Amino acid sequence: MAQLSPALKQATPVLAERGEGVYLYDEAGRRHLDFTAGIGVTSTGHCHPRVVEAAQRQVATLIHGQYTTVMHRPLLRLTERLGDVLPDGLDSLFYMNSGSEAVEAAVRLARHVTGRHNIVVFQGGFHGRTMGAAALTTAGTKFRAGIGPVMPGAIVSPFPTAYRYGWDEEEATRFALRELDYALTTLVSPKDTAALLVEPVLGEGGYIPAPPAFLQGLRERADRHGLLLIVDEVQTGFGRTGRFWGHEHAGIRPDVVITAKGLASGFPLSAIAAPAALMEKAWPGSQGGTYGGNAVACAAALATLDVIQDEGLVDNAAEMGARLQDGLRKVAADHPQIGDVRGLGLMQASEFTGADGQPDPAAAQRAQKAAADRGLLLLTCGAAGNVVRFIPPLIVNAPQIDEALTLWAGCF
Ligand code: PMP
Repeated sequence: MAQLSPALKQATPVLAERGEGVYLYDEAGRRHLDFTAGIGVTSTGHCHPRVVEAAQRQVATLIHGQYTTVMHRPLLRLTERLGDVLPDGLDSLFYMNSGSEAVEAAVRLARHVTGRHNIVVFQGGFHGRTMGAAALTTAGTKFRAGIGPVMPGAIVSPFPTAYRYGWDEEEATRFALRELDYALTTLVSPKDTAALLVEPVLGEGGYIPAPPAFLQGLRERADRHGLLLIVDEVQTGFGRTGRFWGHEHAGIRPDVVITAKGLASGFPLSAIAAPAALMEKAWPGSQGGTYGGNAVACAAALATLDVIQDEGLVDNAAEMGARLQDGLRKVAADHPQIGDVRGLGLMQASEFTGADGQPDPAAAQRAQKAAADRGLLLLTCGAAGNVVRFIPPLIVNAPQIDEALTLWAGCF
């Protein structure tokens, strides 16, 4: 008898049988409040009736219209609809299945467009596990330990992780931008550099929002040196941070946006968007894949956009995120081991720090496990695993936030 590889590590022992809204139900019929949302994927909640209906209808019509062989209407319709929510001018799209693939597609595009190979990333960033994306990932050595050599050309510059440095945001931002300038003077010439790649909120790296001045500083440097600014919105996109895109908090316009996760409510779908003038410089046939832009996933994404718009989920994420952060701060006030509470919208976290000022992963993991025992599903993140993150679906309401906070307060 075969068994599942132990290479797959699981955060909770739950064997999920069905999902409905913010809840998962296990085989014994126990209800779990799901504040993981499948790592920020099921933004419309589990099995939203409109997503289910759209997917079921599409399954009975056309499942796989392979997009380098034939074209299909759900993909064309989705492209049109995404044009309405993307930043002005990012009007050319390409689809894949996962975030990692989309990151690699963006790198491929940036290298074609510029004819240069280096990509500057920011320390603590997570961009995926495939070999190219892993080379760009510095959210923890575990993501690439023992698998190297990985893709060359990744240059790592500091992210303004203010809490870790013990500085305020302004000082951390000044430092990170100064170090980027120094890297572009000492490590790698802008003439050999294709792009800056950044997450608007460090996700796996510890739920650390990029200060607006940092993203604005990156935009300014990208313009000054003729680099592309690629924003990885895999976790922050589709309303998660209380704006449709995380970079909107900084008022900047990226050259390339990468999206996945919340895009299709759980169906594997990812995309990159860029100005047509850039996409036209990609070498013909350089992008593709067997399953990209699957018809059922595209139909689910169209329904996801309808739900986000009709139910006002972006505003709800802002409002419920503020309520959640406020409640997490109140819990932290009673528990000195929680050194920091931070986040944007429905991407919130509590960081555990020991009396010695060092990360305390054991305390974070104890709290995460105690929450799971009480029926509240949470995940950890951060390089040391000492950050507990809260990523409920965007449909979450005030009583559900309050229920989660009551459960959380009992976890210490
Ligand atoms: N980028 C970011 C910001 C992510 O959070 C993730 C997944 N956690 C990825 C890329 C990789 O996505 P996937 O797991 O779908 O390959």
